[in-house]
Amino acid sequence: MLDAARPDRDSEVADDQHPDRVVRCGACDREVARVADRVTVGPSDLHTFVNPRGEVFELVCFSRADGAMAHGEPSLQLTWFPGHAWRYASCRGCGVQLGWRFQGAAVFWGLIRRALRWP
Ligand SMILES: [Zn+2]
Repeated sequence: MLDAARPDRDSEVADDQHPDRVVRCGACDREVARVADRVTVGPSDLHTFVNPRGEVFELVCFSRADGAMAHGEPSLQLTWFPGHAWRYASCRGCGVQLGWRFQGAAVFWGLIRRALRWP
């Protein structure tokens, strides 16, 4: 047989704006947000921060994240976005922390890139 070169699968062209493309909770696989709902905050929709313990977080900003819920009192302490208070953001399915919700001049979700499963 000489057909060993047959590709395993066709590669799909990425289309970030397709409404069906979603990011999911890395823990329980629940749908968290649509890729198309990423929002630019300041220079980018992607921000890298280091917390006081030296842990590096890559946050992706979303205008909405129906699969996440915000909880806790808003706090400006050590906020990564000046003037924007944060609350914890957790998965509605399993409760794992997915990031934070920020509110100030803008209101958005900052979700931890590695806590999500990307399409
Ligand atoms: Zn989950």
